[in-house]
Amino acid sequence: MSLAERYGLVKSQIAEATTRAGRGADEVTLIVVTKNHPTRLVFDLLDLGARDFGENRDQEAAPKAAEVRATQAPEHRWHFIGQLQSNKVKSVVEYASSVHSLDRQSLLEALGKATANRPAPLDVFIQLNLTDDPARGGIQFADLHPFAEKVLQHRGLRLVGVMGVASLDQQLERDFSAIRSASERLQELAPEANLISAGMSEDFATAIAYGATHLRIGTAITGNRQY
Ligand SMILES: *Cc1c(COP(=O)(O)O)cnc(C)c1O
Repeated sequence: MSLAERYGLVKSQIAEATTRAGRGADEVTLIVVTKNHPTRLVFDLLDLGARDFGENRDQEAAPKAAEVRATQAPEHRWHFIGQLQSNKVKSVVEYASSVHSLDRQSLLEALGKATANRPAPLDVFIQLNLTDDPARGGIQFADLHPFAEKVLQHRGLRLVGVMGVASLDQQLERDFSAIRSASERLQELAPEANLISAGMSEDFATAIAYGATHLRIGTAITGNRQY
């Protein structure tokens, strides 16, 4: 299958899952994850109509975003979806319109500082820890309100919702319903923070059934990554 065929197929699968869930087509944003692919792929995806791109490493994303920005490319957005080291924050906020992986206090402080004087706020999703193990990355359900309260104090950040990654044990319903519960809990405190970043190549249809608004899809569209 060509890139165009894979992109078209995923788009139609998203449309089907959205209809099946009784949701509107405009409720779901497709972010194409272009990590470990050359910038050429981003240009090809722009030609196919893609406008939202996901990357997980600043070292790769920063030069890619600059390369695209230097052209007549149509308006597009970069979503930072990977674990973010505080010393990369200054670079990331230059090109990213959103960070999906806000997973700890030290990162919140670095992001807050780097965005304090921005004209437009940076969208942030709180990354959830869906396990009982606090040592795993992300914010646990019980800490969601206190953490969100701290996020809301930063004028350069706009808290837009939660982000989760389903675990590898294929308990998709359990994981996506936990993400949805966390979203509902967050909205008790911040009603406008109603977005859910969830769903990847293997599980996006289930994620849509559980309310995902932002899908992060790589290999199903791009093919296998080159490492
Ligand atoms: C790589 C990545 C994806 C995309 O994964 P695929 O299985 O290729 O669709 C989604 N989310 C995050 C956080 C990732 O790092």
